[in-house]
Amino acid sequence: MQDNSTSEKKITIAIDGYSSSGKSTMARRLASRIGYRYIDSGAMYRAVTLYALNNGIMDADGTIRLDELTAALPHIHIDFRPDADGTQHTMLNGMDVESEIRRMRVSDAVSPIAAVPAVRHALTAMQKAFGTEKGIVMDGRDIGTTVFPDAELKIFVNAPAQTRAQRRFKELIEKGVSVNFEDVLANVVHRDHIDETREESPLRRADDAVNLDNSSMSLDEQDAWLLDLFNRTLSNL
Ligand code: C5P
Repeated sequence: MQDNSTSEKKITIAIDGYSSSGKSTMARRLASRIGYRYIDSGAMYRAVTLYALNNGIMDADGTIRLDELTAALPHIHIDFRPDADGTQHTMLNGMDVESEIRRMRVSDAVSPIAAVPAVRHALTAMQKAFGTEKGIVMDGRDIGTTVFPDAELKIFVNAPAQTRAQRRFKELIEKGVSVNFEDVLANVVHRDHIDETREESPLRRADDAVNLDNSSMSLDEQDAWLLDLFNRTLSNL
């Protein structure tokens, strides 16, 4: 397979899809392989959600104080910092919140927060700013449709909900988070529903995105498939 990863040409790569479909893993691995920056846009929505939960803007019953949330947005600063082994850590106002944003407390609250138009506008602007120089792989729900509609390579990932929940469950257990499978499955299905039916930039495949169902692919097969697609995209520019 020809490898154009050291090419001077830099493109924008948008990877969208359903919850826990493996987008982040494939995006991160591709970015590291080809020397691009990786941005996890879901982590940004999770960071805003954590801020809302910790600052009384969202109650435990799910009520969102919209005025307070809108007023808080200019004070929410999100960045990513790599650690020694290159793993990206999400920073919220200078604090490393990487493990906290992955907990069920945040997973259960994030999709309603991500449906708020003011939140989407603020985060879309930040995401566009990350991508001004290209050479970026970003994953999320609306990257190919709203954030980078002109991305040279768009991928839309899906797999059955059971498979996705199983992966997420395994990931959480490996991180030492105590969860049960039924809760993880219910969360995945519920988030997909909110993401697909919201008014503002709902989850949907961009017309020019390449579909991937990765349910029966190993990580190595997925990496090879994606690298090949990336190389073909560069060759066709
Ligand atoms: O990717 P991840 O599952 O961590 O994203 C968490 C949530 O953030 C999603 O369920 C979705 O509600 C929201 N999200 C979004 N748009 C994006 C990325 C994530 O609405 N681009």
